Amino acid sequence: MNNNNPEPDHSLSLPGLFKSVAPLILLLNITSLVGFLGVIIISFKLLDDIAENNYQERLQTALSVETQRQEDLLIEYSLWDEAHDNLIKEANYKWAEINTGSYMHEKYGIDFSIAVTGDMRPTISFVNGERSELLIDGLLSAGVDQLLKSSLSVASNYKIASAFVRFQDQDYLVSVSPFMNEEDTSLKSDGSFLVIAQLIDDEFIEHLYQSYKLPVLSMVAHEDISDSVLVLKDIHDNEFALIHWVTPMPSTRFLPWLITFVVVSFLVISLLAWWVIFRDVKTRKQYEAELYQLATKDFLTGISNRREFTILSNRELQRAARKNEPVSLLLLDIDHFKHINDKFGHKAGDSVLSHFSTLVQDDLRDFDIFSRIGGEEFAILLPGVDRELANKIAERIRKHTEQVPFVTDKEEPVAFTVSIGIISSAGDNNLEQLMHNADIALYQAKGDGRNRFCHFDG
Ligand code: GH3
Ligand code: MG
Ligand code: MG
Repeated sequence: MNNNNPEPDHSLSLPGLFKSVAPLILLLNITSLVGFLGVIIISFKLLDDIAENNYQERLQTALSVETQRQEDLLIEYSLWDEAHDNLIKEANYKWAEINTGSYMHEKYGIDFSIAVTGDMRPTISFVNGERSELLIDGLLSAGVDQLLKSSLSVASNYKIASAFVRFQDQDYLVSVSPFMNEEDTSLKSDGSFLVIAQLIDDEFIEHLYQSYKLPVLSMVAHEDISDSVLVLKDIHDNEFALIHWVTPMPSTRFLPWLITFVVVSFLVISLLAWWVIFRDVKTRKQYEAELYQLATKDFLTGISNRREFTILSNRELQRAARKNEPVSLLLLDIDHFKHINDKFGHKAGDSVLSHFSTLVQDDLRDFDIFSRIGGEEFAILLPGVDRELANKIAERIRKHTEQVPFVTDKEEPVAFTVSIGIISSAGDNNLEQLMHNADIALYQAKGDGRNRFCHFDG
């Protein structure tokens, strides 16, 4: 068997082009993934900002609506002659209880109300719906006096003003309105006025959450959370309450899912792309192997063709010359092969050629170079084999061929013989010369009656 063929190792590496392009593709893939993720994250940051601003606007709107609601309620009383009579003139607690006190507290969440005369004397006041004395001086100095002035200077018919006021360590949304005549909204001549207020506390925040769909609101003491805080300022423009919230951010809700999705898709696409490329490379390797087979092997017997025989033998002859080792060349020609074709058909003739090559390979060593060089002609280069051993090998092949006929499909034995020409050298001849001399020996073997070997003796 001639296994010493320098068949290229196709499994060694990917083609050069692919090897040089692969890191570039990888780099491109990673760059585009990073870029894509960057765009997604920036977009979500923008969405977060929008959500944050939107939330703040909604909170401010909710506070204005609350103020408006409180003012509307106050106007109902300050523009009601009967209220003025009962609260200021008569200090009628029985009336007040039903119409302002617990009623306002329960129905509108008003935490305190106080009716005040023109000379700053409280007549009737309620705290949490209960009748209670309120310290008017403290209330006035906390900012209600200023608020009263503001309400009086309002240009429209209804005189009213509201502000956040800190009073007795608590924060209130306070509305003030002077009592007016129902008929023409002119001010009552006695200068009396009415004050109502809601406490800005957790209950109020809960009310905002329930009524305006503003979740996760809370009151905080310090502005330690920079973004999501609304600072309420009192009438003196001092900070007095902070409302903190946690905006439901689009990024926290969707970003992890989106990033997972993008990364997984990227991986799947990359793997798919690599698979396609590798499959292509594999196909190309198979194709190259097939080309190599076609270029170097005989299609019928699978052994080396003349071309490969020439390359391998030249290499071996050079090596033998260098090492001064003997080498022998055998030329084999099947006897009367034309008869075989004629008698059994061309197809059987082909099978005989394959059968013969198998027989011969059994008699050879792995590193002997065996080739079909023509129709029914074969050549063998035997490295390290001198004349004596070459004769023995030739005789073994001759006998083997004679003794093992090919058997057709119809169980017909096709007996045939082979003639062999031999040349041995110390490795100093060139291949062409050796072939020529072996051919002379073969010619002689044919002439001597075939089914024999003949050695060229110069
Ligand atoms: P000799 O003993 O003198 O060698 O006689 P021979 O008939 O073997 O020699 P010859 O050169 O006259 O004929 C060789 C024949 O081999 C002729 C050709 O048709 C046949 N042949 C050549 N190549 C093939 C092949 O691939 N397949 C088959 N079946 N026959 C082939
Ligand atoms: Mg021939
Ligand atoms: Mg022949």
